[in-house]
Amino acid sequence: MNIVLLGPPGVGKGTYAGVLSKKYQIPTISVGDLFRTAIKKQTELGKKIKGYVSSGELVPDTVVIELVKSRLEEPDCKNGYILDGYPRTVPQAEAMMKFNKIDIALNFVAPDNVIMERISGRRTCSKCGAIYHVKNMPPTIDGICDRCTGRLVQRSDEKPEVVQNRLVVYREKTKPVIEYLRKIGLVADIDADYPIEEMDKIIAQCDKYLQKLA
Ligand SMILES: [Zn+2]
Repeated sequence: MNIVLLGPPGVGKGTYAGVLSKKYQIPTISVGDLFRTAIKKQTELGKKIKGYVSSGELVPDTVVIELVKSRLEEPDCKNGYILDGYPRTVPQAEAMMKFNKIDIALNFVAPDNVIMERISGRRTCSKCGAIYHVKNMPPTIDGICDRCTGRLVQRSDEKPEVVQNRLVVYREKTKPVIEYLRKIGLVADIDADYPIEEMDKIIAQCDKYLQKLA
């Protein structure tokens, strides 16, 4: 089963992908990771990507498509995959329907204020990188890492005003992609407005759709 994950930053896609990947024995492929690996390995594509990223430009569709296509041709994807971070544009979605048909697009939905709280409550240890949440996973001592006593800081892209902007950009950019996939009947909306302790309620909604495909 070929699964695509949609949803704004902070909705928890990475977490759900991990659970689903284990359950259905298919790999999770994050396009962000593909970029980082290609850059590190200094492949031809990697060099191109590095050029765009370091000059602050968007990586063009043709490059992204080539990278994803070749990854999905690897043997571990033969029974399916969970793809995170692609398609981000309509041309990417159209290309994908040609080279590797999407079976379902799980579209995780949560209100902006819930996402804001999840992201802007995050604190990262400046020393060891451990992640906390002021409400959901607070450290024992305020502002101090339990593991290494490092100072906890808020990442600049997790500040409320920045998160707000990321959400606006996300909606603007992905709206046409979601519309395109919805038109061909591939979008399954998943209500992700549950606290982390009730994640099984989110996974159960996914299962309802995925079991039909298995
Ligand atoms: Zn630490």
